[in-house]
Amino acid sequence: DDVVRFADMGYKRHVQATPLIRDKCRELILDNEKLKKLMEVCLDNVHRGLKKDTHAQAVVKCFPTYVQALPDGTEVGKFLALDLGGTNFRVLLIELSGEHFEMKSKIFAIPQHIMLGSGEQLFDHIAECLAIFVKEEHVADQKLPLGFTFSFPLEQRGLTKGILVSWTKGFKCSNVVGNDVVQMLDEAIERRGDVQIEVCAILNDTTGTLMSCAWKNHQTRIGLIVGTGSNACYVEKQENAELWQDVDMGSGKVLINLEWGAFGDDGGLDFVRTEYDEDVDKNSINPGKQKTRQTGTGEVYQRGPALRRQRFRHAVRERGRFYTKYVSEIESDPPGVFNNLREICEELGLKHATEQDYINIRFICECISRRSAHLVSAGLAALISTRSGRRRFHPHFHNLMMEKIKELVHPSIEFDLMLSEDGSGRGAALVAAVAARLQKTART
Ligand code: BGC
Ligand code: MG
Repeated sequence: DDVVRFADMGYKRHVQATPLIRDKCRELILDNEKLKKLMEVCLDNVHRGLKKDTHAQAVVKCFPTYVQALPDGTEVGKFLALDLGGTNFRVLLIELSGEHFEMKSKIFAIPQHIMLGSGEQLFDHIAECLAIFVKEEHVADQKLPLGFTFSFPLEQRGLTKGILVSWTKGFKCSNVVGNDVVQMLDEAIERRGDVQIEVCAILNDTTGTLMSCAWKNHQTRIGLIVGTGSNACYVEKQENAELWQDVDMGSGKVLINLEWGAFGDDGGLDFVRTEYDEDVDKNSINPGKQKTRQTGTGEVYQRGPALRRQRFRHAVRERGRFYTKYVSEIESDPPGVFNNLREICEELGLKHATEQDYINIRFICECISRRSAHLVSAGLAALISTRSGRRRFHPHFHNLMMEKIKELVHPSIEFDLMLSEDGSGRGAALVAAVAARLQKTART
């Protein structure tokens, strides 16, 4: 059975997860029939998001981004970028020159009280970090164009106007939902009065990722993030993006930010949801929201489903003790080796874990990462089929996805997955640079 096939990956045949564990994990396995159904539901959701008539009710919003063209390699200049909404908040200085780019960046902490404080506090903090950075980099006296990667659901009204629809990922600042975040940033910069910046683009991290890969490989058509949240964007024909209203700058295309984290919020994904997902959802800071994200990413690990034994229960079942990074570490050990896992168990105070315990824990991790890779593959396979037509990373995610997407799309379709290095930072500069390029060509 499927579960036994999993076990082959990591262990000799005779050492397997115990039957109870295998049983508890069974519902995490998604067969291709379910995944194909998921592709259909996904495409239906995308259609509903794009169409004027159905957009209001759609859960996958498919927001047009106002980014109309991909980089062509001729972009040049110095740009600032802000990257908010990933693991870290960063400020970057990027210099593009044909084939090459140079980049400096600095990570700033966003304290919990600011993540849950007022919007003014948040943007004052961002403006302060920006001011510190430009002074350190000696560019405070230049009025540099800035691209703002803001990785939350945004309803864009232009390249520099984006209304926050809702917070995700642990942020919950008051007085931001419903407001234009570019304006809030401008106002915070003005309140300080010590830096001059021109915010010339706001974008999602998926857009940044697509742009930074497209800069290297002009064939790129989809951007994907699997991180603190999960989301994708892709290149769509302007005529299909019914909500989009802008002048065509010549490409006939527009990038669409799917916001697929909300996929399933209307119950459309219930056929793959499990009791563990319900548990994670109930205990999240925005219950009922972003159900795909919860299914697809690390939060699921917080509840080790089958770690029922007493001493495990105390160490692992406490919410938030079993970090997502542990999963990557555990699966980075070669098959049958448990070096990282042993250390993690020690960190968790599990002094007497047996080899069978290790095997069980690794098995659970593998089931959950496979499920997450397969869910994301179904989403990508859906996009590839009809649309494009033509730190610490998880060690096997890329291969799991390549394999699964091949199984799900028509064999005539060729595709490749490319890792975006620092897409959300560099992409912001590229969006700003492409906008500048298009304006120049429009003028001449
Ligand atoms: C946000 C998206 C973002 C994704 C990945 C989600 O929670 O809503 O805008 O692209 O996380 O960072
Ligand atoms: Mg990022």
